[in-house]
Amino acid sequence: MTEERPPSVDALARSIADVGLPHPLLVDAARAAIAAGVPGSARARAQAAARALLRRVVNATGVLLHTNLGRAPLGATGALGATNLELDLDTGRRGSRRAHAGRLLARAGGAEDALVVNNGAAAVLLALAALAAGRSVVVSRGELVEIGGGFRIPDVLAQSGARLVEVGTTNRTRLADYERALAHDPALILKVHRSNYRITGFTEEVEVAELVRLGRPVVVDLGSGLLDAACPWLAGGPPAWLAGEPAVRQTLATGATLVTFSGDKLLGGPQAGVLAGARVAVEACARHPLARALRPGGLVLGALQEAALAYLRRQGDAIPFWRMATLTVEQLRDRAAALGVGEVVELAAVPGGGTLPGVEIPSAGVAVPGDHSAALRAHEPPVIARVAENRTLCDLRTVDPADDGVVAAALRSAGATA
Ligand SMILES: *Cc1c(COP(=O)(O)O)cnc(C)c1O
Repeated sequence: MTEERPPSVDALARSIADVGLPHPLLVDAARAAIAAGVPGSARARAQAAARALLRRVVNATGVLLHTNLGRAPLGATGALGATNLELDLDTGRRGSRRAHAGRLLARAGGAEDALVVNNGAAAVLLALAALAAGRSVVVSRGELVEIGGGFRIPDVLAQSGARLVEVGTTNRTRLADYERALAHDPALILKVHRSNYRITGFTEEVEVAELVRLGRPVVVDLGSGLLDAACPWLAGGPPAWLAGEPAVRQTLATGATLVTFSGDKLLGGPQAGVLAGARVAVEACARHPLARALRPGGLVLGALQEAALAYLRRQGDAIPFWRMATLTVEQLRDRAAALGVGEVVELAAVPGGGTLPGVEIPSAGVAVPGDHSAALRAHEPPVIARVAENRTLCDLRTVDPADDGVVAAALRSAGATA
């Protein structure tokens, strides 16, 4: 006569070893399953934990810089062993981690110097802390923005120790508004790019060139990191949808002291933030104690260096974002037809990532009837698609051509047919 006894946690964990997780994580799944009174759920729990790990997915959403999918796609970045991150190979002495990616980005963007930090928010925080703590910073009320994920200019300004002096109104700010604020003896004027929204209609703002004439340092939070409005890395020059997007080189040439931007938006690199501009200003930021807390590691600097070298070689094709963004609709339609599943359709891709609001890039892909998004996400590797009007849409502009076969196989195994 045997009595049903709950299995031991350890035995249960061993019985699901084929899920492939390290033993302590299998133990967690086993323990949770037993605690829930359903030992048989241990495998499903372990599988769910395995699926939650960071992994490669295929982005078929048509959103080039999809924040939930890590923004700019990265090329294969060869895993590095030891590096000369802070070693001067000539002297054998300690070098600077500013000597590679930062210097190259400065060169590519027409800046005297540049400093890399962990993200765009950190770049703004550091610039304000280093250049304006304890003093006033003038910002237009039309630029007191929130960028996705709770980055709010007034809050960051407060954290930096600077004092916010708001000028103008939500829709109109004039030079005279800034002039009046000079009575506060501001450390700098901050101009913020309204990356993720538009103000249209009865509006007015002051260009960087005019602000510079007021005689105070002008710091511009560009956000998206377009290095040069002329896009010399693209054989065909700047695409039409980029019109009006402010760029690093032109903003600095106009006289801005410092610009800040993200590494993983239009720059097309890894998550990072960059401060670029006048050497004294960049130096002041690099010397500030926060710089150490915000500094990136070798993996990020290595990936950013690859992007910077591609810009300097004028090889936009070596940067996945630009390669994907500039494919012709014809190329995409041919790839869609070659999938052999679904109906070939014209679509509208978007830059995404909180850049270029309202901008659409003509695109193409396939459509199948019904919502198959969950089945596609469950595929290995997961395929992330869009659903509209009860059709599943796979936009090929954001899919690496090497993954077209994955999209086709995922659609077939999801039972999707045109
Ligand atoms: C995106 C953005 C930020 C924040 O950059 P993260 O890299 O997301 O931290 C700050 N300012 C502007 C104008 C932006 O567009």
